[in-house]
Amino acid sequence: MRKPLIAGNWKMNKTVPESLEMIRALRGRLDPSSPAEVVLIPSFTALFSAAEALRGSGIHLGAQNLSHLSQGAVTGEVSGTQLKSVGCRYVLVGHSERRQLFQEDDALVHQKLKTALSEGLYPILCVGETLEQREAGQTRDIIGTQLQEGLKGLTPPEIRKVVVAYEPVWAIGTGKNAQPEQAQDIHEFIRGRLVSQFGEDTAQDNRIVYGGSVTPENSPGLLAQPDIDGALVGGASLDADLFYAIIDAVP
Ligand code: PEP
Repeated sequence: MRKPLIAGNWKMNKTVPESLEMIRALRGRLDPSSPAEVVLIPSFTALFSAAEALRGSGIHLGAQNLSHLSQGAVTGEVSGTQLKSVGCRYVLVGHSERRQLFQEDDALVHQKLKTALSEGLYPILCVGETLEQREAGQTRDIIGTQLQEGLKGLTPPEIRKVVVAYEPVWAIGTGKNAQPEQAQDIHEFIRGRLVSQFGEDTAQDNRIVYGGSVTPENSPGLLAQPDIDGALVGGASLDADLFYAIIDAVP
C-alpha cells in the first residue's frame, strides 16, 4: 500500500519566526491517526529551527533544492549532506520554477537526484508540461523524457526512494488546477512509464503526487483518484487552516 504524502512547499516565503508559528499551529491540529504522511518544505534559512520544532510530531522535513555537487568551492549552494545534517528526509528536484528561472535541464536534475540519493535523502522529482506543450499535444512526450532522463540508471533500491510529483506548469500558482480525471490520466501514464523503466513490483510502490493549485475544495476529488498518492501544495500550504484541510481530505 502506498501511504499518501501531503507536502507543503513554502517556496521563498516565511521568516524563521513565521515558519515556527506555522509549525506550532499545524502541530496542534494534526490527527495522529491521519493516513497521510506530512512533509513541510520551508526555506533553507528555516530548516534548522523547523527540525527542532517538528521533533516528535511525526511530520517530516524537506528542502526545496540541493547542489548537484557534494561539497567545496560552490558559493551559494547547499549540499545534500548539509540538508541531511539538519534533519531533512526529502528534497525537491526539478521543480518547474528551478527549470524555468534557473535553466535546470534534465541532465542537471538527474545529477541532483543522484546526489540526493547518495546522501540518503528521498528525492521528490517534479515533472510537468507547460500550457504551450499541452496545447501542442506534447504532454506525454515531455513527461516521458523528464522521467527517462531524470531517473535513468537508477537501481531498484534507489527508485524505491523516489516520489514523482506531476505538476502541470499551467496549474502552478494560477488557481487553475487539473481536473481529477485529467490528472489521473497523466498519473496513470507516469505509472506506466515507471513500470516499463523499472518493472511492475517497484512501480506499484512509487508514490505519484499531484501539484498545481491544490486547495481544500479540489483536494477530495484529486485525492480520490487511484493513481494520485498525495499532493504537493504551494500557496495553500502557507496557511495552517488550508493546509490542514487538505491533509484532512486524504481518504
Ligand atoms: C508548487 O509550486 O509546487 C505548487 C504546487 O504551487 P501551488 O500549489 O501554489 O500551485
